[in-house]
Amino acid sequence: MKKTSLKYFQVQTDIEKVIKDINPGLMNHDADRELLPAWLFVEAVEQAPIAISITDKKANILYANQTFSKVTGYRLDEVVGQNESLLSYKSTPREIYYDLWYNISRNQIWHGQLINKHKNGQPYLAELTVAPVQDSSRNTSHYLGMHRDITESYAVEKNLSNQKLLVESVINSSSIAMVVLNEDNKVVLDNQQYKALVTDLDHSEPAEMVLELLSVHLGPVHQYLIDNPQGFNSLEIRIESNKKHRLLWFSCSGKLFRNNAGDPDSFFDQSEQNYLLLSMSNITRQRLHQEEIHLQTLKAVLAEEEQIRSIRETLLGAIHQVNQPLNQIQAAIQLMEQKNEQSPLLVDLFQQLEKSCEQTVATLKHCVPEIAPSTITPINLNQILHEILMLSNNKLLSNGIVIDWKPDSLLPNIIGAENKLRMLFKQLVENAINALEKSKKPERTIAINTLFNDHRVMVLISDSGPGIPENLRSQVFQPFFTTQKMGGMQAGMGLVMAKEIVHQFNGNIEIDQDYQDGCRFIVSFPLIDQNDYNRYEL
Ligand code: FAD
Repeated sequence: MKKTSLKYFQVQTDIEKVIKDINPGLMNHDADRELLPAWLFVEAVEQAPIAISITDKKANILYANQTFSKVTGYRLDEVVGQNESLLSYKSTPREIYYDLWYNISRNQIWHGQLINKHKNGQPYLAELTVAPVQDSSRNTSHYLGMHRDITESYAVEKNLSNQKLLVESVINSSSIAMVVLNEDNKVVLDNQQYKALVTDLDHSEPAEMVLELLSVHLGPVHQYLIDNPQGFNSLEIRIESNKKHRLLWFSCSGKLFRNNAGDPDSFFDQSEQNYLLLSMSNITRQRLHQEEIHLQTLKAVLAEEEQIRSIRETLLGAIHQVNQPLNQIQAAIQLMEQKNEQSPLLVDLFQQLEKSCEQTVATLKHCVPEIAPSTITPINLNQILHEILMLSNNKLLSNGIVIDWKPDSLLPNIIGAENKLRMLFKQLVENAINALEKSKKPERTIAINTLFNDHRVMVLISDSGPGIPENLRSQVFQPFFTTQKMGGMQAGMGLVMAKEIVHQFNGNIEIDQDYQDGCRFIVSFPLIDQNDYNRYEL
């Protein structure tokens, strides 16, 4: 392929001249000894899709190819003999030229970006490589310049990085913690709020903790999102932060999106990866506000329920007390009948007494108020215990009692009636406070632990009080038994009520026989399938 135009001969002659100067052996026209024909070198440079120029040591242009003309706008005859500085837009910092010359004059290749001026006066961004060309004696005789216009690709790249910056600053200024996780749950992107969670939750990777809590509701989260591409929204989780034993609430949303991995393996293989975008909004403040209102309502509800129970217990106590003389009167009547007692007045008097006692019992029974049936729902005992501690806060503070609250953050729900469980734990906590009030020990601690063990949800309430003597432990669950010398008819019914409630949910309550430092009640409930609600008669 030989061109015959005048321009071609001119170009070929110029290049041949330069190449001859550099390496005379290469341009030997003896076809027998030639490795590659000279015209091939000329054509390769001439047609190369990059702007190529060859200069002398002062950057005076000796040759430029077709792409050079396309990129700069100058014809070959317009640039030959001109200095490369013809292309300078005069806004490139001088240090860049200094660096260029510093390198090439030391026989090193220079690569960088500078702003060039097109023949029409317009600036363009050039990516330039300048390489020294050495002659056969290894002396630099010329420079080879190669550049391309990267204005558009730079604009695209800049737009992209601007957009990335914009997205990042929007994400970072959000009050919601956001994190993107790959299929191995490794964090690939996060924002400032998420980073702050590391300190707030005292956990090096908060997402791990959140995913674990979400999986209690959703099962494995990635799988859930594959099955439910619409994702999940506003799913609330509570986290017991180890730090300062704070309780935090988050409203979480999650969605999967698919993306190409950026590694070379995925360049031709367009297989996509699933990424999970998880956002966590801290709703603790709203929750605390709600909780405050909720606690006020609870206080009222529990006070009412307690009053009803107290009336019930007082009346049941009265019935119990009236039943004692009644039993004696009935026994006396029976005895008189057996002995064929001849004193009708006495028999009559006893019978009247019996009747009057029976009427009193009937009246009292009639007055015993009913406890309203409760609805059963899935319940997190951590929440119930937290509420009870909040409700008992004043009593705990005024008695200088330290609470050692260790909830299991992954405690599963049980099925139960909220108010009944509140009454149960309120009773146990109040018993512990009462025991500590009377204790002479300097240490005043109530420890409350929740845990999930052997398919049972367990609550351990331990106090550092005097404990219950071993011989009385089996009696404390019997009606009207009390270790306190306080009198009052309702005394001794609290643990009866507690046991009754625990048994309603197939649970178990016992005193830990091995606990030596005071008294420890162990309450446990089996995990129940939520479909089994109806089995419970409440
Ligand atoms: P100048 O006065 O030409 O030079 C500025 C500084 O460059 C000087 O202070 C000095 O530090 C250094 N310098 C200049 N000439 C020499 C020299 N002969 N020896 C040592 N140091 C020297 N420039 C562009 O703007 N666009 C290009 O596309 C471009 N392509 C080039 C391709 C090649 C092969 C070579 C060798 C140079 C190229 N240059 C290019 C650099 C160009 O020659 C100028 O140095 C530059 O344009 C600055 O020009 P100026 O008139 O602003 O400053």
